[in-house]
Amino acid sequence: ATPTALMVGTGRGAQLGILIKGPEVLESTRRVDTIVLDKTGTVTTGEMTVHEVVAAEGESVEDVRRLAAALESASEHPIGRAIAASSPSSVSRDEMDGIEPGARPERPQIPDVEGFANREGLGVEGVVDGHAVVVGRPSLLADWSQHLPESLAAAVERARDEGRTPVAVGWDGQARGVVVVGDTVKPTSAEAVRRLRDLGLEPILLTGDNEAAARHVAAQVGIDTVVADVLPADKVAEVQRLQAAGKVVAMVGDGVNDAAALAQADLGLAMGTGTDVAIEAGDLTLVRGDLLVAVDAIRLSRRTLATIK
Ligand code: ADP
Ligand code: MG
Repeated sequence: ATPTALMVGTGRGAQLGILIKGPEVLESTRRVDTIVLDKTGTVTTGEMTVHEVVAAEGESVEDVRRLAAALESASEHPIGRAIAASSPSSVSRDEMDGIEPGARPERPQIPDVEGFANREGLGVEGVVDGHAVVVGRPSLLADWSQHLPESLAAAVERARDEGRTPVAVGWDGQARGVVVVGDTVKPTSAEAVRRLRDLGLEPILLTGDNEAAARHVAAQVGIDTVVADVLPADKVAEVQRLQAAGKVVAMVGDGVNDAAALAQADLGLAMGTGTDVAIEAGDLTLVRGDLLVAVDAIRLSRRTLATIK
């Protein structure tokens, strides 16, 4: 009877929009008591918008925007996509593809990028128009001895106070600007967190973003425990730490940087809207990328197991 009940659970999952790697996956959810939620793209939409561009004294806002957008046009990170799309004169590469080759506008606005490097969870680096450009966490620029002048440090501070993400921009050895980006909570996230609690799970918000931005999102959805400023490699360590403390951990994520943690968790739930790497690492895929479906997944597995007993 056991395999049959599990098979039925798997079929019911498909109807709910939950793809299950194998029937045995449902068994591991029985004792889950903690659910770790990635912030960007999981609790929030992951569609970032640029709120403000600030230039250091003697620099132009337009240069900061243009060089940052050019470099980020090679990035797939949600922050990178937002900054790349923010240049008012820019035509994105996707839009360009939709235009007849003969009718494509000249595009001097997006300079070419050479030697592009993605520093996962930190930012991006590359050469634009002959300038060595760095865009990312202020700490990434500090690695290059590019320290923020007071006016930019104040902009960083202000952005964090507002629950936003400040991205520092520097070139040719100097920090020269800050781009402030922000994200919105998905409409269903707060309700999902409430239901996860009702199922007896403790929610934890895990993110590479800054603490204040993380707390801002946590407050909106009703999460008390926040682990922020986590490097991609340390997300898995956080799951291990919880497991070592005796917790049985489910993890929900969507990014490349969540894959190892999804694999380490007792139950890994990948957002179907996320990256392929995350989907491969997860035990379950939530097709619509909606946290309410994570609630359905936990309920379904518990019901399936109750049937077996
Ligand atoms: P999350 O855990 O929220 O998915 P990440 O680990 O991807 O976040 O990124 C952590 C932080 O690194 C971001 O909040 C941002 O400050 C910085 N960062 C990462 N990628 C980029 C990028 N392409 N451009 C600018 N900043 C970036
Ligand atoms: Mg994410």
